[in-house]
Amino acid sequence: MARPFASSADLGEKAQTLEVLADGVYALTAEGDPNVGAIEGEDFLVCFEALATPVAAAEWLARLRRHTSKPIRYLVLSHYHAVRVLGASAFDADVIVTHEKTRELIAERGEQDWASEYARMPRLFKEPGSIPGLTWPTATFSERFSIDLGGERGDLVLAYCGRGHTEGDLVAWLPKQRILFAGDLVESQAALYTGDAFHREWSSSTLDRVASFGAQTLVGGRGAVARGGEGVAAAIAQTRDFLDVMLREVGKAHESGGTLKEAFDSTHAVLEPRYGSWPIFEHCLPFNVSRLWDELDGVERPRIWTAERDREVWEQLQS
Ligand SMILES: [Zn+2]
Repeated sequence: MARPFASSADLGEKAQTLEVLADGVYALTAEGDPNVGAIEGEDFLVCFEALATPVAAAEWLARLRRHTSKPIRYLVLSHYHAVRVLGASAFDADVIVTHEKTRELIAERGEQDWASEYARMPRLFKEPGSIPGLTWPTATFSERFSIDLGGERGDLVLAYCGRGHTEGDLVAWLPKQRILFAGDLVESQAALYTGDAFHREWSSSTLDRVASFGAQTLVGGRGAVARGGEGVAAAIAQTRDFLDVMLREVGKAHESGGTLKEAFDSTHAVLEPRYGSWPIFEHCLPFNVSRLWDELDGVERPRIWTAERDREVWEQLQS
């Protein structure tokens, strides 16, 4: 029997856990569904990531409101993927911040990405009719963007670490609390999605920069919160290992004149024992291998995923 497309058959609700990581610092994790967060300033809130629809975001905000009633001044979006940005209108934030490349990517491929992600992960799109349209940032930056949280709270620093999961990922760093919100640049016991990635840069200089913060707590894009220096290092190492195995296995097939399907099969065989049980592993791998094959072919920027191209790659590799 053919494997159901992407996560289209994953319809079971995931349990959400709200954790208070430090005074006024919150993370909501959900068994491998996209994570979100919030940081309190003296008299305002910064929210990190927006979920897939305003209805899904409103449920998160209702939980957050049990802890704080401060108004939301900033909504920070780590990258352009639909399941993290299309719920933005629920926040009614004064400022929506992304990396400058993210704005360009939304303009270039936001519509196609929306259709693609909706078909891949329909469960995350709670009441899809509530999405008013694409989400546009109102402030962007290239290297660094600091938000003074006021009082004794220190800064929240938004930083660019190089190309990785996408062309325009940002991380959010709390130097005083040593907490890093890493977006999809790091996953903690969840499979990586690399269909829009720059594998070689991500696995080397970009992850080096992520590691250089010296975080004691790390909230990745999916999966549990990583705690303590060792836990953070393990999450970063797992992310790097996943990428290194892909680079090695797809690289071998590519170099020896093999086929995309052979590259997929050998990568699957090596990754599966370690990562096969982690959320979205089977869903992601065909798209991941397809993009890496392109990268090794010299295709500089990821090709745009459309609902149609998604199905073609799925049929070719995963059926
Ligand atoms: Zn993503």
